[in-house]
Amino acid sequence: MGFKEDREAKIKRFKVCHICGRELDVDMGHASMGICDSPKCFSTDFWIGHLAHKNDENVARIKGLHYIIGEEDSKDSFRGFAGRKFYIKFNNGILVKTSNLWHQGTIPEFFKQYMQDNAKFLTREEYLDERRTNEQVRI
Ligand SMILES: [Zn+2]
Repeated sequence: MGFKEDREAKIKRFKVCHICGRELDVDMGHASMGICDSPKCFSTDFWIGHLAHKNDENVARIKGLHYIIGEEDSKDSFRGFAGRKFYIKFNNGILVKTSNLWHQGTIPEFFKQYMQDNAKFLTREEYLDERRTNEQVRI
């Protein structure tokens, strides 16, 4: 079964956008993911996905922005923020130094109530200072 048929089969299975209930058709770019072509539905689906992972230890929400801390020893030549170093302190005290931070954007207003900030950025100096007394350093 080719890619096109596979996509059409998926669209048939979903039938309607799982966000707004609109009927799906093949011209809709994300129809095979069960979403119509409304940017709002795409965004809602995107943030529902992140909501499901809100308590993952590699998810940092800082000043309403959403970040995922990638594998530090990733062999992928693409690194978040081109490999720039970030120092993060989670609200539970855990400290993380990362050179593979990925940014997903601003958490939409509706989702903010479920996805509150759980961390903040530290400067390198603050991080080093924290490390001296903080036992919960992850990296
Ligand atoms: Zn929709």
